[in-house]
Amino acid sequence: MSRKVQAIRGMNDILPGQSSVWQYLERTVAEVVHGYGYQQIRFPIVENTDLFKRGVGETTDIVEKEMYTFNDRNGESLTLRPEGTASCVRAADQAGLLFNQIQRLWYTGPMFRYERPQKGRYRQFHQIGVESFGMATPDIDAELIILSARLWKKLGLLEHVELQLNTIGVASAREAFKASLVAYLSEFKDQLDTDSQRRLDTNPLRILDSKDERTQAVLRNAPSLDDFIDEESRLHFERLQRILTNNGVAFTINPSLVRGLDYYGKTVFEWVTTHLGAQATVCAGGRYDGLVEQLGGKTTPAVGFAMGIERLVLLLDELNLIPEDAKVKVDAFIVSVGDEAELASFTLAEQLKDANSQWTVLRHCGGGSFKSQMKKSDKSGARFTLIIGEDEYAKGICQVKDMNTGEQTECSLASVASYLSQQV
Ligand code: ATP
Ligand code: MG
Repeated sequence: MSRKVQAIRGMNDILPGQSSVWQYLERTVAEVVHGYGYQQIRFPIVENTDLFKRGVGETTDIVEKEMYTFNDRNGESLTLRPEGTASCVRAADQAGLLFNQIQRLWYTGPMFRYERPQKGRYRQFHQIGVESFGMATPDIDAELIILSARLWKKLGLLEHVELQLNTIGVASAREAFKASLVAYLSEFKDQLDTDSQRRLDTNPLRILDSKDERTQAVLRNAPSLDDFIDEESRLHFERLQRILTNNGVAFTINPSLVRGLDYYGKTVFEWVTTHLGAQATVCAGGRYDGLVEQLGGKTTPAVGFAMGIERLVLLLDELNLIPEDAKVKVDAFIVSVGDEAELASFTLAEQLKDANSQWTVLRHCGGGSFKSQMKKSDKSGARFTLIIGEDEYAKGICQVKDMNTGEQTECSLASVASYLSQQV
């Protein structure tokens, strides 16, 4: 026997037992975002490497060490998308959808990052992203957060997640803070973890969310970002908080929340949970007014967020929040014995689907004894088994067995659909 080819580490199959949960989640998200007027956009999984270098930022973890980059047969450098925002901006701008317009967009699909696989962290993972363009005021930041809160509520997750908020100011405020932070931290350089030492030159803001205890101890007396925030960002942040409070959305201000990507400014936020260990963030986002221009478009204010589907599925599973009707169900399983009865079973199956497009009707395929077919029906979890044996066929009827009670009722083949309609 030849050796079996295995999936790539960190890239998971979503098996039939799990896919219904994914569909439930995706369906619920689609319902919520459509309710706020967001429209779906789809863009390719592969883009020019340059898009992410410029869009995500050369000094981010993603571009420094997580991208799947390769040359195609023409020698062009391509990258499997590590996130959706840069592609979304590229696609929308290329189609002329951004300048001087208001857009509310969302997308879903796989993202790729070369990370160490562990629970809640994979190399192919999936995000749902929501982005809005053309609105500079804090009401749209608030709308996005209120939308996400509605989603958690709908999924039964609201009490299991916490909203963390911060403002990181406009670029000039961050530059002034960075200079002061670097001046302070340089004095303690040998006490910082190696990543943070490197970031002192490349991306000092990221040092704030270092998980290293010694680094965190040094940071305790560091200059505070809050002292550098400009007036405009402060007012923006205050208005956002006011709207959230007025809508009953609770939040915690986390002064060291800076987000990993270069393109954020003003509002940043994360929804975190205590149920998933170190992979605590299920949804993250913020304002990125500079990105469209950075990618060659005309200045366009923007704000958005992305959530990790795997982490949400883990959370729903862990908390037992998957509703019964989201799981696969079989309404009727048709058993038939004999060639003529088999023909009748096809007719019956199609009649049932005509009668109610929501019903799942399984026909037993492949013949076999009555007994073995009944076992299969039992195993399928069907609500009803419809039995057409040779006798039943001759009389133009079928036996309808209620699998919950074991009760059996005789029904003419023509009236099975209406009989089932009364039962389910
Ligand atoms: P983390 O700090 O966990 O690495 P991140 O800041 O890199 O997250 P973002 O780029 O903001 O994550 O992506 C948004 C969301 O996508 C995250 O909050 C998370 O839910 C999910 N996500 C990110 N990376 C992964 C991954 N490798 N595997 C699974 N989900 C992920
Ligand atoms: Mg990451």
